[in-house]
Amino acid sequence: MNHTESGWKLRNSYAGLPKTLYAPMEANLVPSPELVIANQALAKSLGLDPEQLDSPEFLQIFAGNHFPEGSFPLAQAYAGHQFGQFTMLGDGRAILIGEQQTPDGRIFDIQLKGAGITPFSRSGDGRAALGPMLREYIISESMHAIGIPTSRSLAVVLTGEKIQRYSAEPGAILTRVASSHIRVGSFQFAAKYRSTEDLKALADYTIERHFPEISGPDRYIDLFRQTAQRQASLIAKWQLAGFVHGVMNTDNMAISGETIDYGPCAFLDRYDESAVFSSIDAGGRYAYRNQPLVGGWNLARFAESLFPLLDDRPEEQALSSLQAALEEYVSLQKQLFLAGMREKLGLFTEMPEDEQLIDALLELMQEKQMDYTNTFRSLTFDIVEEHPLAEDTAFKTWYSRYKTRQQLENRSAQDVMELMKSRNPAVIPRNHRVEAALEAAAQGDYQVMENLLAILRNPFAHSEAQQPYTAPPPPSTPPYQTYCGT
Ligand code: AMP
Ligand code: MG
Repeated sequence: MNHTESGWKLRNSYAGLPKTLYAPMEANLVPSPELVIANQALAKSLGLDPEQLDSPEFLQIFAGNHFPEGSFPLAQAYAGHQFGQFTMLGDGRAILIGEQQTPDGRIFDIQLKGAGITPFSRSGDGRAALGPMLREYIISESMHAIGIPTSRSLAVVLTGEKIQRYSAEPGAILTRVASSHIRVGSFQFAAKYRSTEDLKALADYTIERHFPEISGPDRYIDLFRQTAQRQASLIAKWQLAGFVHGVMNTDNMAISGETIDYGPCAFLDRYDESAVFSSIDAGGRYAYRNQPLVGGWNLARFAESLFPLLDDRPEEQALSSLQAALEEYVSLQKQLFLAGMREKLGLFTEMPEDEQLIDALLELMQEKQMDYTNTFRSLTFDIVEEHPLAEDTAFKTWYSRYKTRQQLENRSAQDVMELMKSRNPAVIPRNHRVEAALEAAAQGDYQVMENLLAILRNPFAHSEAQQPYTAPPPPSTPPYQTYCGT
């Protein structure tokens, strides 16, 4: 590992895996890169000098024109079920340059998304457009601030090239930071196309990197169980925040338990359990309400991929261990969701009727098309009289039931409000706000985006400055639609 003056401390341990699991990469030079945005706080936590983010050296790194010492650029091979269909995939437009060791000893993948053609590009151009890369930047940083595990965004640069999408668009590269990019699809690839030794190498590497406490004869079952636990927690957090990932293919499920792949994702404005934003998800496979279920489906594919590593025991025993862990996922996911909902409602203790109280609120929100985030905000500040449904009979009935439940807690109003303020974000990246920021950025004005990011950085501040950003989209706004692979 080398340590540069600007703070890069890179190596690439993935390159130490069997060469059948990745393709080494060269630079795909871009002509005239230009920095659009860079993340000072993230740079600092990575041990990089924030003062140098706009230096020519960093610009060349973010553009994929120059790789810092210690890096070993590669494209990872992976497969995946896309909308239920198994396909060979791989990093078609991303290059993993290495892992950065942080001052506190953690390691993070540094990946350039949109960095050009790789052996896995198929018919794609290996590139990404400015708008979608900025969108990923904004939403992933907001997710992080809300407290949802996620890949993060260090920088976006323009490449100086135009790329063809629906129209010609400015090409851009996002520097993405993640605990790793090992996915369910990485295991599916190794299990289907590579030897059991390669699969084992990947599993052992993953354990060492993400679950170093796992050892012993049951380690692959434990790998599965703990991955499932992390997914249960992650997906519960998505549900609680009203986040729709939009493309929960198995290649987009990270073993680390972080949210990866910000394509067609979006946050709910009004609550709708069947919400789908992705233009290609006509069947609603990845709708809001299906996310916990799809998480389980994806985990079952992960279990299948690990199966060849369990040949030291009777098949039935292996199957029943995996099955038990999958069942644990289902109950844990639900338990974490309910626990999170209780906190959003300012309830400190657990009572049997809580689930019904929560379900009744969600049904009411669905039926009355209530804004998800703002409903919890009104409850937080106990200003339901300002809520659009203040005079609605069904809502009033629910509200008095809720107040009765809350009184059973014997907590001060102050305690309750503090808990609720810390669990209910004032601001989410509302689609119309994100679009406005991207439209301005397309004209070269990055200030709208910077202002939005500043607001999203402290979602639990509940400050005056956030007020304008809490408004739902104007009623005339057409349904929001998102796109994959842009
Ligand atoms: P995603 O929908 O982002 O998960 O991408 C699915 C697959 O398509 C992955 O293998 C990507 O690397 C690949 N891909 C997406 N966009 C492009 C592109 N412009 N060029 C090459 N490959 C791409
Ligand atoms: Mg993907």
